[in-house]
Amino acid sequence: MGRLVIVANRVPDPRERGATAGGLAVALSDALAKRESVWFGWSGNTADHTATEPQQFRRGRTLYATLDLGQDDYRHYYQGFSNGALWPVLHYRLGVARFEREDWVGYRRVNGAFAAALAPLLKPDDTIWIHDFHLFLMAQELRALGCRQRIGFFLHVPFPPRQVFLGLPNAAEIVTAVAAYDAIGMQTEDDAENLRAALIHAGEAAAALRVGAFPIGIDAEGFAELAARRFHTKEVEQLRASLAGRALVLGVDRLDYTKGLPQRIAGFGKLLERFPRQRGKATFLQVAPVSRGDVAQYRALRRELDESVGRINGQYAEPDWAPIRYITRAVARPTIAGYMRLSRIALVTPLRDGMNLVAKEYVAAQDPQDPGVLVLSRFAGAALELEGALQVNPLDPDDIAEALDTALAMPKDERLARWRQMDEAVRGTTAAIWCARFLAALEGREEVAEAGRAAGQVVPAPRETLRRRA
Ligand code: ADP
Repeated sequence: MGRLVIVANRVPDPRERGATAGGLAVALSDALAKRESVWFGWSGNTADHTATEPQQFRRGRTLYATLDLGQDDYRHYYQGFSNGALWPVLHYRLGVARFEREDWVGYRRVNGAFAAALAPLLKPDDTIWIHDFHLFLMAQELRALGCRQRIGFFLHVPFPPRQVFLGLPNAAEIVTAVAAYDAIGMQTEDDAENLRAALIHAGEAAAALRVGAFPIGIDAEGFAELAARRFHTKEVEQLRASLAGRALVLGVDRLDYTKGLPQRIAGFGKLLERFPRQRGKATFLQVAPVSRGDVAQYRALRRELDESVGRINGQYAEPDWAPIRYITRAVARPTIAGYMRLSRIALVTPLRDGMNLVAKEYVAAQDPQDPGVLVLSRFAGAALELEGALQVNPLDPDDIAEALDTALAMPKDERLARWRQMDEAVRGTTAAIWCARFLAALEGREEVAEAGRAAGQVVPAPRETLRRRA
């Protein structure tokens, strides 16, 4: 078997393993352990100019090859086009996007520079798997350099309907570039349909047949063990003691405008306003470490959240209880796993999310004898699998408040029935399955559509046991 070459904007630090490693590193770890591999991408550092030759080092069977980005490329390719234009458009947020022609030029330049630096490292029988929206153009660039290897692409975020995507000034060039891939994986069938429609409209009907849905998962067993272990630590014990018997409602997200944080906080405020019996019964802990703090829209969001948390706490707090605790520092992932097991309810309400792994982690973290309730946005990819969640419209604070009221009163037999469906789904679509299915499609061992269907196979919900919310 040839090598597996993984290309992603960020290359994980090989010193971070297991519980602290990033999601993609965890998801690929099985595949990487089985064969010789290469991880290629940005080092995370900036320099005067983007490097032309990667720094290389080896750990076990994996060769790491990374490039520093020049300051101009960091600004235009990464902050500008990737985070300022593509990220909002792919999450259906045209109004937040900022378009600058120089950003597009930088994006094209870096995709080309990555291809030029990777090409000399490649062997003829390598399989290349490129990840995410930072690198849409890379297969086209590699082909132009004469690379004939199989090249696959996975988009970790949503893909919007064509008319939304066309709001991006260079949308047409991106769609054409996507046609250079041999297999194209999306999180859900809706995303796959949107991309197929865009490809067909652009005259790339053959490429549309190479698009499939491959919902990504987590290491469910590993996360369940982590949560059970961390449940009995000092940090979790301190949090439990501080609740004084009240239910914990937990939110865990990067501080990002796609995560629906203002509406979520307003939803908790509505719970206290409309259901006075719930006042003093629950404490909402939102952990939201600052991300992309150098982008204006993120700074504005932070100010908005500071204000709304302050307003609700000022209105409803008692001398011995504040409704909302809000932390913008990073909290270690193992500690988060313990908090998840402690919490009665998780509030996962992104306005739009490719998958949302926090939702799956929450399910895996629960005590099987006494699980909590997941309140989940119907616009997260995970909603298609997690039918046992209380699904809400994340834009509607009243809907969130009603779901919270239902969740706080939910009897144990209903919590168990809902959680069992979700746990089966999370264990049935793990990271390892996702990876194996995509590679089967990319390496031609299975049809893309067939492999995608198998990757997304979900155990149906035990509907008769799930009471519907009024
Ligand atoms: P995104 O990739 O958009 O940030 P996901 O929910 O898909 O959203 O993945 C986020 C990952 O980062 C999860 O594995 C989650 O546990 C972790 N994470 C998110 N927020 C925090 C936080 N506040 N502290 C620690 N880990 C976090």
